[in-house]
Amino acid sequence: MSAQLIRAALLALLAALVALPVGYFVAQWAGWAVFCGGLGLQLAFHFRNFSRLERWSRAPVVDSSLEGEGAWDGVFGRLYRHEKDLRAQIAKRDAEIAMLIEAGQALTDGVVLLDAHNQILFCNTTAEMQLGLVIRTDRGQPVVNLVRQPEFVAYLNAEDFSRPLTLRSDRSEDRVLSIYVIPYAGDRRLMQIKDVTQTDRLDRMRRDFVANVSHELRTPLTVLAGFLETLQEIELGPEEQARYLGMMAEQSERMQSIVQDLLTLSSIESAPPPDNDVVDMANLIDKLRRDAEALSAGRHTIAVETDGQGDLRGSEPELVSAFGNLVSNAVRYTPAGGTVRLIWRASPQGAEFAVEDTGIGIDPKHIPRLTERFYRVDRGRSRDVGGTGLGLAIVKHSLNRHQAALDIKSTPGTGSRFAARFPAGRVIGL
Ligand code: ADP
Repeated sequence: MSAQLIRAALLALLAALVALPVGYFVAQWAGWAVFCGGLGLQLAFHFRNFSRLERWSRAPVVDSSLEGEGAWDGVFGRLYRHEKDLRAQIAKRDAEIAMLIEAGQALTDGVVLLDAHNQILFCNTTAEMQLGLVIRTDRGQPVVNLVRQPEFVAYLNAEDFSRPLTLRSDRSEDRVLSIYVIPYAGDRRLMQIKDVTQTDRLDRMRRDFVANVSHELRTPLTVLAGFLETLQEIELGPEEQARYLGMMAEQSERMQSIVQDLLTLSSIESAPPPDNDVVDMANLIDKLRRDAEALSAGRHTIAVETDGQGDLRGSEPELVSAFGNLVSNAVRYTPAGGTVRLIWRASPQGAEFAVEDTGIGIDPKHIPRLTERFYRVDRGRSRDVGGTGLGLAIVKHSLNRHQAALDIKSTPGTGSRFAARFPAGRVIGL
């Protein structure tokens, strides 16, 4: 600054030095005119540069438009560099903020940022989908105006965030969300939304399963206990005693079957991928036919349809158990005089093992649920034929492990067809 002042003073002095001899030798007014002219030139010079600065400051751009003269050049240069640095810093911050937003968008959990009045500041796309928000239009809106479920509104209003809120989404029936509210930056709030649908479903399945197993075992146990009590308390004749003992044996067999099927299911579930043994289908079908004939005890016609081609790669015990379940169901749910047909077809595109029967059939509404554990169309009928309700669950698991699908077609009163379809990779020997 002092250098500028000295420079201005020197220029004024120069004007004075030129003006003095002019005023002395020519005329006084001429001297003043020269002096004022000198000062005027200086003023014009500064005004010109100031105007440039003024123009540039209205819309600062980082280009060569800000060029000054003399002392102004240094000032403009520093200003220019400052503006450039500032812009670089802003660009860097913008990039960092964009990265943070991208990280927020990449989260698989939903995130909503709220201000002190629960108005939305930001939410990521996951939260948009989970809560039905649209950040473009919903920014600044109170979140309770958009998510109106009473339990959510009550949770936010209660201001006790020590436990998460479990919310069954009213937008999609089967979605279950767990909402955590975490205070931050003083009075702001971060809402973290986890989709716990799967965990909730598994939890419910586990509870249902325990309840089902207990129920299934309790029934024969109660019957057994009742018979035992009778035997202990009442003196029975040999014939009646034998009848009671027979019924007790039946109940204990029933419990054994349930436990056996449960063990089979759990061993399939926890087992490593099935072996890749070559399963000789001609042999296997022959064995299945003999089992079916033994179970039917002559009450049904057991037929086999196969062109004798192709074998399977997989775990023989698992496939025997799966196919055996289909065959025994067909025999058990087909009244005497009916036909049970075992069909094997293999081609380079894949193979199919099917069991067709002319039995009681199944109402279509039950078909999607048949492979659920303990699901039975008619509980009494299944019990009468010695069913546990676990057979088709075992079939489905075993087939899944072999990348095979179970296809069920049935008409009540006419019969059913259960087909296991194997991909080409599982078929050999064609
Ligand atoms: P269950 O031990 O009761 O037979 P499954 O899991 O093997 O249990 O079968 C589930 C239900 O599917 C059975 O209770 C029965 O109602 C029905 N079902 C299975 N196979 C047949 C079939 N071939 N014909 C008619 N109903 C069947």
